[in-house]
Amino acid sequence: MFKREIAIICIFSMLLLLASCGAGESVRQIYVMDSVASIRLIPKNEAAADLICKELYDMDNVLSAYDGEVYDINRNGEGKASRHTEALLRSSLELYEKTNGAFSPLLGSVIDLWGIGSKNYIPSQAEKENAVAASDIGNVAIEGDVIRLSGGARLSFGAVAKGYASDVIKSVLEEQEVEGAVISLGGNVYVHGKKPDGELWRVAIRDPRGGENSWLGTLLLSDRFVISSGDYERYFEQSGVRYHHIMDPETGSPAQSDLAAVAVICESGVVGDAYSTALYVMGKEKALSFWREGEGFELVLVGRDGVVTVTEGVADAFAPESGKGYSYETARR
Ligand code: AMP
Ligand code: MG
Repeated sequence: MFKREIAIICIFSMLLLLASCGAGESVRQIYVMDSVASIRLIPKNEAAADLICKELYDMDNVLSAYDGEVYDINRNGEGKASRHTEALLRSSLELYEKTNGAFSPLLGSVIDLWGIGSKNYIPSQAEKENAVAASDIGNVAIEGDVIRLSGGARLSFGAVAKGYASDVIKSVLEEQEVEGAVISLGGNVYVHGKKPDGELWRVAIRDPRGGENSWLGTLLLSDRFVISSGDYERYFEQSGVRYHHIMDPETGSPAQSDLAAVAVICESGVVGDAYSTALYVMGKEKALSFWREGEGFELVLVGRDGVVTVTEGVADAFAPESGKGYSYETARR
């Protein structure tokens, strides 16, 4: 256990243990992007906290696939994009290329077909094939700020919207010259600056097979995003099979990954968010090759076999939690 005065930020869950929350801070908790956003600024800066909340509400209004601008573009097959939608689609198309299509912003048809967490439908092979065909990346075009969809394609930013939103918050923190902050958007964490005592922030990595308040290790960090994906976040079970929410764009079904969870540690929220989803789809071996070939990010991979792999760039920052039944290894370049 950690000392009470150490702020522990539990990622993978929305839990933020504000152990040292005090009068000299600005704290907000709001519901946006289908999850709880926790904002903690130290020292107190009410104007910056208000601005961050306003930005979050604005982004929530446009980026959701269930109402707002993206919803309208999906329904009409085309539409004018505001700055957030345009920026997010442009970044997403680059991240689609980088991840070889393991992350795709065009998976709306596949995601809606299954409705994991809502209608929980198990589609036929033909239905999946149709949805995969509709998700072909050639079915989206962006000219200036106009987006056009064809072939039944639908946009879905569920895998990157929170990461993108954290980038926007990071720029507000910089503009407002906030010294220290912890931002958690549905469990995706950004730690800014240092704690008031000059120490780094301690970010907890959730145990994907434990409850929301259970973690398998912590990372000491500053100015980093820790963004996670896993099969425990949204799923249903039928006949002993877990149907979870991370889709393999090639099959149109939940990815058959040997990973239970992926945490990406990096300096860009949108990149971390796309990678966390994509690397889960890739599985351990490809995820580690992707890390070796890439740069600017580090990983904590939690295998279904109980092995936790920490990449060397964060190995010194990582402290395993004992008694969890995991074994730990360091991946080298
Ligand atoms: P995350 O929790 O960031 O991994 O995002 C998962 C969400 O993104 C899911 O609930 C889906 O809405 C959507 N999604 C699932 N699989 C993919 C994928 N391969 N590429 C892009 N979005 C996906
Ligand atoms: Mg993601």
